[in-house]
Amino acid sequence: MTDAQQSQSQTQASRKIPPGLVLGPDGKPCRVCTAFRHWNPMKAYKSNSSKSSNDDATLAAMAGAMGTLAQPNGPPPDCPPDKDQLGRSTWTFLHATAAYYPDQPTSTHRKRMLGILFALPVLFPCSWCAMHFGEEIQRSPPDVSNRENLSRWLCQQHNIVNERLGKPLFDCSIKSLDERWKDGPSDGRCD
Ligand SMILES: Cc1cc2nc3c(=O)[nH]c(=O)nc-3n(C[C@H](O)[C@H](O)[C@H](O)COP(=O)(O)OP(=O)(O)OC[C@H]3O[C@@H](n4cnc5c(N)ncnc54)[C@H](O)[C@@H]3O)c2cc1C
Repeated sequence: MTDAQQSQSQTQASRKIPPGLVLGPDGKPCRVCTAFRHWNPMKAYKSNSSKSSNDDATLAAMAGAMGTLAQPNGPPPDCPPDKDQLGRSTWTFLHATAAYYPDQPTSTHRKRMLGILFALPVLFPCSWCAMHFGEEIQRSPPDVSNRENLSRWLCQQHNIVNERLGKPLFDCSIKSLDERWKDGPSDGRCD
C-alpha cells in the first residue's frame, strides 16, 4: 500500500465513510473516484431491484448505443460518470486509438500520443487513478514506436489496474487486442 492509499484508508476509517466511497484529495467524497453502487448504495440498490433483468438489458443496450458505455449498476446515461464509466470510456478511447495507430508513426504521431498519455496523470478526473497511472508510466514509459508495441504497452498498463482490482488479466497478444479493439471476433457477431 502506498503512503497516499494508507492515508486515504486511515481518513476513511477515522471518519466512518461508507465502504467503497472514495474521498478526493480535498477530503470530500469524490463522485468520479467512486463506483456508482458505492456513491449512494441504497438508491442504486432500489433502482436496480425495481427493474426486471429485461429492463436492465434494455438500459445497457440503450446506454451502449448512446455511446456512454453505462452499465446496469452504473449511473443513468444522462448523469455525471462514476469511476467505472469514466474508466471504461477512457480505456475504450485509448485501446481503440492504439489499435488504429500507424505501423510507422511519424514524429508528430509519437509526440501527440505521448501527449495524450502523459496528460492522464495530470488531468484524469479520478485523482487516485491518475496518481497510480502516473507512477506506472514513470516506471514503464509508453512505447509509441509502432501500433503493435503501443497496443501491448497499453494492455499491460490496463492489466496492472485489473490486477490491483482483482479482475482477470487480458491476453496482450496483438491477435486478441485486434479482435477486441479493431477487427471483432471471427464468429462475426460484431459485424
Ligand atoms: C488510466 C486509468 C487508470 C485507472 N486506475 C484505476 C484505479 O487505480 N482504481 C480503480 O478502481 N479504477 C481505476 N480505473 C478504472 C478501471 O480500470 C476500470 O475502467 C473500471 O473499474 C471499470 O471496469 P470494467 O470492468 O467495466 O472494465 P474496464 O477495466 O474498464 O475494461 C473495459 C474493457 O476493456 C477490455 N480489457 C480489459 N483489460 C484489458 C487489457 N489489459 N487490455 C485491453 N483490453 C482490456 C475488456 O474487454 C473490458 O470489458 C482506471 C482507469 C483508467 C483509464
